[in-house]
Amino acid sequence: MAAELSHPSIQDGWFREISDEHFPGQAFELRVEKILFHEKSQFQDILVFKSTDYGNVLVLDGVVQCTERDEFSYQELIAHVPMFAHPSPRKVLIIGGGDGGVLREVLKHEDVIEEVVLVEIDEYVINLSKQYFPEMASGFEHPKAKIVLMDGFQYLKDNQGKFDVIITDSSDPEGPAENFFQVDYFKLLRDSLVDDNGIVISQSSENIWLNLKKLKQIYHTVKEVFPMVKYCYTCTPSYTSGQLGLIVSSKNAALDVAVATRSWDQAKQNNLLRYYNSRLHAASFVLPNAAKVFLEDE
Ligand code: SAM
Repeated sequence: MAAELSHPSIQDGWFREISDEHFPGQAFELRVEKILFHEKSQFQDILVFKSTDYGNVLVLDGVVQCTERDEFSYQELIAHVPMFAHPSPRKVLIIGGGDGGVLREVLKHEDVIEEVVLVEIDEYVINLSKQYFPEMASGFEHPKAKIVLMDGFQYLKDNQGKFDVIITDSSDPEGPAENFFQVDYFKLLRDSLVDDNGIVISQSSENIWLNLKKLKQIYHTVKEVFPMVKYCYTCTPSYTSGQLGLIVSSKNAALDVAVATRSWDQAKQNNLLRYYNSRLHAASFVLPNAAKVFLEDE
C-alpha cells in the first residue's frame, strides 16, 4: 500500500499558511480534501493538494502560489498591465512562472508577440503544473513560447538589451527567489530592456495591509534604479489578506503605465478575460490615502 502523504502545514484536514517574515499574527487556511503530491526538490518544498472549495492548490515552501479557483486574478493583472500599457510588446520575458499561468495570459497577445521566454529554476514545478493544473499549463507547447530551465538572475546576466516587457513571477524572498528583491536584480532588469519604453513588472510579495514598511523598502529599492516606479495590486483571496502588490517600472520617466495603450474588442475581452479590463487596469493603481502618502514619501 502506498504511504499516506503528509505535510507539516496540514493538520486536522486544514492547510494553514503562517508567515513569520510577513505578518506573524495572521494565518490563512484552506480545508484539504486530499494531498496529491509532497516532495522536496533541489530548490524548495513542493506541496499540491486538492482543497474542498478552491480546487487544486500549489504551495512552495509553505506559501500558496496559486489555486484553481482564483489564479486568474493574479495572472491576468501581472501579465496584461504591462502587455496593454506597451504599444508593441514583441519580446517578452517571464522570470519564474513555472505554473504556466502568466505564460498562458501573455500568449493571448500572440498577434503582437514574436517570442515569450519563460525562465524557471525548478523543472518539478512545470511538470506538476502539467499534471495537476492543465488549464494553467496550456501554453508550454505554444510555438512562440521558449522554456529555459535555469536561474533567472543568471539568465538576465546573459541576455541584456533584448526584451520589451519583463515579468517577474517569482516566489517569495525566502528561498531560490531571494535575489529578486535586491537592487542588483533591478539593475539587471533595467539593462535587459530593448529601449526606454520597456516595462518591468514584479510581484512584491507584500501588500498595503501586511508589512507596509517592507513594501516601501522594496518600492524605494526599485526607485534607486528606475525613474518611473508605480505600485498596483490584484485582489486574490488565497494570498494572505486577499491582496498582492505588484511594482511596475520603466526607464521612461514620463510613461503612464496606468493607461492601456491598446485594447481588444468587447467580444474578445469577454471571451478571454475574467478579471482584467481597461478600467480595472487604471483602478488597480489607485491607493488609499495613508498607503499612498507613506509609500511615496522619500
Ligand atoms: N504566482 C506566484 C506567487 O506570487 O505566489 C508565483 C508563482 S510561480 C510558481 C513562482 C516560481 O518562481 C516557482 O516555480 C519557482 O521555482 C520560481 N523561481 C524561484 N526562484 C527562481 C529563480 N532564481 N530563477 C527562476 N525561477 C525561480
